Amino acid sequence: MPAPIRVTIWNEYVHEQQEPSVAELYPDGLHGALAKSLAAPDLEIRTATLQEPEHGLTQAVLDATDVLLWWGHAAHDKVDDAIVARVRQRVWDGMGLLVMHSGHMSKIFRELNGTSGKLHWREVGELERVWCIDPAHPIAAGVPEHFDIPYEEMYGEPFMIAGDAHVIFMSWFEGGEVFRSGFTLQRGFGRLFYFRPGHEAFPTFHHAEVLKVLANGIRWLRPAIDMPFPKTHRPDPLSPIAPKDFKVHNVGIVNP
Ligand code: ZN
Repeated sequence: MPAPIRVTIWNEYVHEQQEPSVAELYPDGLHGALAKSLAAPDLEIRTATLQEPEHGLTQAVLDATDVLLWWGHAAHDKVDDAIVARVRQRVWDGMGLLVMHSGHMSKIFRELNGTSGKLHWREVGELERVWCIDPAHPIAAGVPEHFDIPYEEMYGEPFMIAGDAHVIFMSWFEGGEVFRSGFTLQRGFGRLFYFRPGHEAFPTFHHAEVLKVLANGIRWLRPAIDMPFPKTHRPDPLSPIAPKDFKVHNVGIVNP
């Protein structure tokens, strides 16, 4: 049996401590609920929150993380730039990153996505219908062609995401908007998966299909390789290179 996937679930953990209705849905925080629901023999799960020293993401923790889940909303600007750089480096080296819901405006997502990450939104608790548009993708394994989330916040297009995004899920909302709600990117050696559902005021992280997608995402995000950029960035030639008579003044540059 392969070694377990080392998963760290990071949550800013602000709404749950400030709003009783959110605490009622997630008494142990979103991170606690996810850690419990996603528990499986092939996963070694730990959690980390904004309030911990170094946001719980010390170098040692990140070095021992294969896949990092990220939930943030109210405190994106409280996340230390040095920690963001540390996470980014780990993704470049191979760590998988699963960004959920309002994490689209987190520093780490915007940096790796490469654009503003902006979108339209409306919070009235409307129906979201999630369509699986790439059923052949491993993240869609066992997920039905479409499923409904009865109460969600709406996110609408245009969603400012990178041109190389590979879209797996599309959402339709009761109010009429559509949204690319699940897509992957590769940055350096690391894979990234963004998944939209997960507004803190609704029981989305108790929804079976949502949890199924997250569980599949974690497995797909496991690093294929995990190492810094190879030390051979100035390699010796593999075969002899014949001497050339290049001289800068003899190559025929014609001045206009
Ligand atoms: Zn939200």
